[in-house]
Amino acid sequence: ESPIKKQRISRANVILGQILGEGFFGEVHEGVYKSDTIQVAIKTCKDCSAGVKEKFLSEADLMKNLDHPHIVRLIGVIHVDPVWIVMELYQHGELGNYLKEQKSTLTTATLILYCLQICKALSYLEGLNMVHRYGQIIFFSLHVDIAVRNILVASPDCVKLGDFGLSRYIDDQEYYKASVSRMPIKWMAPESINFRRFTIASDVWMFGVCVWEIFSMGQQPFLWLENGQVITQLESGVRLPKPLLCPPTLYSMLTSCWAYEPYIRPSFRQLVCSLRYSGTAWDAPLWE
Ligand code: ATP
Repeated sequence: ESPIKKQRISRANVILGQILGEGFFGEVHEGVYKSDTIQVAIKTCKDCSAGVKEKFLSEADLMKNLDHPHIVRLIGVIHVDPVWIVMELYQHGELGNYLKEQKSTLTTATLILYCLQICKALSYLEGLNMVHRYGQIIFFSLHVDIAVRNILVASPDCVKLGDFGLSRYIDDQEYYKASVSRMPIKWMAPESINFRRFTIASDVWMFGVCVWEIFSMGQQPFLWLENGQVITQLESGVRLPKPLLCPPTLYSMLTSCWAYEPYIRPSFRQLVCSLRYSGTAWDAPLWE
């Protein structure tokens, strides 16, 4: 049985509501999943020819294997046209916007908590290392665009890592080439920029940039540079500066994530430990 089949839900159980935003493949709506009476986000696919449909559904296919308190939860898929991917709705939207809006109320402890939650989600993915896909085991190098635009806020003390759509960059050469202009250069590790190498170590680099965004309250990294200038800067040793709100110990953790050589960077498991430790110094809430 194809893995997607298991996730099939009936359109009769889904109420399509207002538009939440624009996704890569089409509009994203809010709605209700009647079977569980929960609020959902519904991803739609605008020009869903067979090839596009497969790409669109690959995100859901990846997500259905994942079960973590800080990863966006897939409810199910409606596979007949119009194809929909139904996910749990996170009321507060994207973390990037939330940080800008709540700038004056967020404490260092809460910011560390968000970083820890995302780090745990990534450590979980690091541990999985493989996914089952269309009956085939493929090597799984995260495929996540780790940035505040892809983190959703479920509640003021809970964030969720989302958007597994980046898989398109890695496992389909053709699609990848078409998407080069959409590459998040300012978040990427040097080896990803230079050689399109995406590994768990390049994810650690991106996570460092994401933590920088969190402590900069949603500012864009390297706003002062053109995409084309980034690699020269990185190669001459320049790194993102310490955000004002970032504790110095945490900043040294970030610089370790930005080691030029991938094998020198810490693992997500190690990063979870460092973040727990920095959290205790700031009385961060909810330390499990
Ligand atoms: P891209 O690949 O360009 O990131 P996408 O197809 O992955 O696009 P998203 O960015 O995930 O689409 O979604 C588009 C919009 O819908 C965003 O503004 C996002 O905040 C919102 N959204 C997506 N999923 C959810 C959700 N589960 N809860 C709340 N809002 C969501």
